[in-house]
Amino acid sequence: MSFIINETCIGCGACTKICPSGAITGEKQELHTIDTDLCIQCRACGTVCPTGSVEDNFGRIIQRVKPGQRLQPMFDRKTCMACTICVEACPTGAICLDDPTSKDPHAYPALANEKRCIGCGFCEKECPVGAITMAAPVEILKA
Ligand code: SF4
Ligand code: SF4
Repeated sequence: MSFIINETCIGCGACTKICPSGAITGEKQELHTIDTDLCIQCRACGTVCPTGSVEDNFGRIIQRVKPGQRLQPMFDRKTCMACTICVEACPTGAICLDDPTSKDPHAYPALANEKRCIGCGFCEKECPVGAITMAAPVEILKA
């Protein structure tokens, strides 16, 4: 899957700010472009684009996500085996390990920096035991 920015781009720069791999370039108020060699296909650019200008290679527009509705990982500590694969998978360094306690010597992953999370779901995809579920912040508060 590759992504492109179509001609409706207004060059606002929202995509360049959120892209974790520096794959997007362009002058202010001019058409931006995605370097497919650098793109990690996280879709974050499309979720912040105000003009729906990011599309996949099937021409499907990536839907914008309103602030506060971006999915975030929820960690199930009972299932988690503290392998830290999710920490490695996160392209923005949003996941850190909690300090181990005397009761539980394992260092478990947690979303240490919510603002850094772009909702890509790479952590959920890579977890070998299904301990991560992507959920809207409101669902996380209820859990
Ligand atoms: S969804 Fe997971 S991998 Fe993606 S930025 Fe957020 S914490 Fe990192
Ligand atoms: S990848 Fe899954 S099992 Fe491994 S530390 Fe992260 S949540 Fe736990």
